[in-house]
Amino acid sequence: MTPARLDVAVAGGGIVGLACAFALAREGRRVTLFDPAPGRGASFGNAGGITPGWVAPLAMPATIRAIPGMLADPLSPIAIRPAYLPRLLPWIVRFAFNALPGRVEACSKALAALTLGACEAWADFARSAGLEGLLRKQGILYVYASERSRQSAEPGHALRRKRGVAAEPVDAAWIASFAPMLSREFGFGIYSPDAGHVVDPGGLCDGLVRALESAGGSIVREPVVDIAAGSEGVNFRAPSGGFSAATFVLATGAHSKVLAAKLGARVPLDVERGYHAVLPEPGVELPAQMIDGEGKYALTSMAMGLRLAGTVEFAGIEAPPDHSRADMLVRAAKRLLPDLRTDGATRWMGCRPSLPDGLPVIGAAPASPRAILAFGHAHLGLTLAAKTAAIVAALAAGRAPDTDLSPYSPTRF
Ligand SMILES: Cc1cc2nc3c(=O)[nH]c(=O)nc-3n(C[C@H](O)[C@H](O)[C@H](O)COP(=O)(O)OP(=O)(O)OC[C@H]3O[C@@H](n4cnc5c(N)ncnc54)[C@H](O)[C@@H]3O)c2cc1C
Repeated sequence: MTPARLDVAVAGGGIVGLACAFALAREGRRVTLFDPAPGRGASFGNAGGITPGWVAPLAMPATIRAIPGMLADPLSPIAIRPAYLPRLLPWIVRFAFNALPGRVEACSKALAALTLGACEAWADFARSAGLEGLLRKQGILYVYASERSRQSAEPGHALRRKRGVAAEPVDAAWIASFAPMLSREFGFGIYSPDAGHVVDPGGLCDGLVRALESAGGSIVREPVVDIAAGSEGVNFRAPSGGFSAATFVLATGAHSKVLAAKLGARVPLDVERGYHAVLPEPGVELPAQMIDGEGKYALTSMAMGLRLAGTVEFAGIEAPPDHSRADMLVRAAKRLLPDLRTDGATRWMGCRPSLPDGLPVIGAAPASPRAILAFGHAHLGLTLAAKTAAIVAALAAGRAPDTDLSPYSPTRF
């Protein structure tokens, strides 16, 4: 049977795929997006942060030193399920290599090349989709219960300042006046005004689905199950049949490894699982997104309540969630916010698609310039979606992107 011919096919309708699809539709391309459940992957439940200051990679010397503790304590902020360790080992070895000082600096610069300007990129992008009402620009406040724990986070904050991101120490009086709902125990902070957040990450995805359809795009609620580069485009299969696309974008997040390999990109993609708890009637409205420097998770006032989100668990995609990690976030938040009401909490787990250097894969696939890879955004998929979409749209149109893509190359491993 002759495959159905498409102009642009996008596989994956998380925030990255949806943003790429909408950007391409706005450029006049006829876009068909394939995803059995758009906007219900990692992009649904994240912490909502648009964080230009996320320029300190996870692979830092302190993280490597903490690995034995991660194996011993399933509730540590970064945990490894011991049964998953043998499969994770090659990834961990590469991760440890990226914690060497020269690599931290290179990865931080490569992160900054994408993150700086993220708030402005999102403001323009959201406006073009009629979704600017979901964005807030209130900055981000990191809070600590002691000078010692603020100091232990200092390597990350120093990297932020080095990259030009404001991250200034604030004292107990400043914190009490800015965020009187916080326990006086948390009297040490760092405030970064250049950050924003989204009040409904799932709603942002739903809004992009509508914006894509209004711009002439269509959605096929099926997975892409096989793919191969062809001479005139990219051939792929979904349950309903075979297709051929002049341009193909692979943005299937944590599920990208096998499909990317079929396009010639053998990438060491694994997943950093994260959790959230949403408190529907928290009784507090935060003046900015906050990071609890003790529990190492984010607190974000959202449309549906207060979302506590974060932590990292290495256990692969398939393992069932361990919701005691979400419960741990609720306990930690109660310490930070003594008047917090926790009734009716809902819990969620999602998979961040992560490469060991903490950088995404963005660029043409080795097998075909018509296949563009856009996955692996780890802790930054929301922050970087608007920027990634602009890069993908440029590549699809044969324009040079405004960013040097070599650090994100699929062949860098
Ligand atoms: C707890 C937590 C907190 C986070 N906080 C933040 C934050 O504050 N700021 C930030 O920037 N980032 C944050 N992140 C990271 C961010 O959520 C991810 O980087 C981002 O969601 C990845 O987007 P994505 O589109 O690549 O993947 P996803 O959102 O997972 O989407 C992938 C999509 O691909 C689809 N799919 C899978 N296989 C196929 C297939 N074969 N064919 C077609 N479709 C397929 C899935 O159905 C899914 O819809 C957080 C993540 C977690 C877990």
